[in-house]
Amino acid sequence: MSESADCPPSSFATAQVQAGYSSTMPVTAALPPIYQSNAFALRSLTHARDLFAHRAEGDVYARTGNPTAAVFEQRVAALEDGVAAAGVASGQAAVALAILALAGRGGHVVAANQLYGGTVDLLVETLPDWGIETTFVDQDDIAAWRAAVRPETRLIFAESVANPIAQVLDVRAVADVAHNAGVPLVVDNTVATPYLQRPKEFGADISVHSATKFLGGHGSVIGGAIVDLGTFDFSAEPEKWPALTDPSRRIPSGESYVEHFRDSSPFIGFIKAKHMHDLGPTLSASTAFALLQGMETLDLRMQRHSASAQRIAEHLAAHPAVARVHHPGLAGNPWHDAAARYLSKGVPSVFSIDLHSAGDDEADFARAETFIAGLRVLQLLANIGDARSIVTHPASMTHSHLSPQQLADGGISWATVRLSIGLEDVDDLIADLDRALALL
Ligand SMILES: *Cc1c(COP(=O)(O)O)cnc(C)c1O
Repeated sequence: MSESADCPPSSFATAQVQAGYSSTMPVTAALPPIYQSNAFALRSLTHARDLFAHRAEGDVYARTGNPTAAVFEQRVAALEDGVAAAGVASGQAAVALAILALAGRGGHVVAANQLYGGTVDLLVETLPDWGIETTFVDQDDIAAWRAAVRPETRLIFAESVANPIAQVLDVRAVADVAHNAGVPLVVDNTVATPYLQRPKEFGADISVHSATKFLGGHGSVIGGAIVDLGTFDFSAEPEKWPALTDPSRRIPSGESYVEHFRDSSPFIGFIKAKHMHDLGPTLSASTAFALLQGMETLDLRMQRHSASAQRIAEHLAAHPAVARVHHPGLAGNPWHDAAARYLSKGVPSVFSIDLHSAGDDEADFARAETFIAGLRVLQLLANIGDARSIVTHPASMTHSHLSPQQLADGGISWATVRLSIGLEDVDDLIADLDRALALL
């Protein structure tokens, strides 16, 4: 392993450019090469046997890892101050694998009402096929989190900053509930990114990311990451996690994952050996390269995203055509104090506005349509965290699978329009929004 991989640079800006890669590795390319190879040379049959038995570390076959993805994994882990990460094909795969690994068969999840629509679909429809059930709670109701825990609960799941309404999670309070229940807190840190928040500082145990969004930042590739923050001890109550604490047939020495990966991450070792291998949501080398290119400028981009969004939110809050601006950087927003505590470097640039309601859902949809059709700089795209500024209508797009009750629980109405402020000139964006609002 290289020097920089062994000792991740301690400052964020250096880590985001260098962590996980050193040009003193066998190739001397300044940037991590794209290792476009399905399989990797095995030095001898003995070496092959050791790799298959997890006695040696190295690449075998690219479904479970490749050297470019490994740089991405180490870099995300460094930025989150975690111990190890698994790079996967999408944010959706990251969420699914983290939950599958913890919940096992018949496990129970307590999750926030305020979640990404794809995560809601996964929890409501697909994970029940594995016998995994979820209880949803209002993330601000700490007593509700506590009351929802059952003996078979295996994790608590929430987003550090939800969307489209930008609710800021009280990570510390929810982490305390999880730890009192003897289970880890898993935080989806996609919208905040480790630049605006490191969930570990507030007690989270595992973070997951859609790297598709701000980490990559260019809207060019889909990818995800699961990060073990190294704080949860699976051996404290081994009977809760038999897959991790019982001997595994995949580890020929007869050890469990907790024993075998005691010096790294049993959780990530398990996900790679089992779920990556069996289910196959691989992060390709070329995708990992594109994500690393984006991550090199994460701090600069997040500063610009955040500052532009703050200015736009303040402008829209004073606009007569806007009923409400859901931006926690505004005084009076219900999560303003939480933002000061948990997002001291700035608020993410994904937030929503409510147009004045025209009375019913159809009429509100028509007004949103007029507004969006009037935009020339912001684009109608199903994405966030892109260099481009994006507008969406959650009720008819990203959150259209949700029931009316789930929409209401998430704070979303048909008059709600979500913005993801990109890196264009902020005055151009304000002029564009004003032009479109003038049509209403
Ligand atoms: C987009 C997103 C996901 C899913 O990620 P994909 O990369 O699209 O699979 C999960 N969580 C959040 C908060 C997201 O924004």
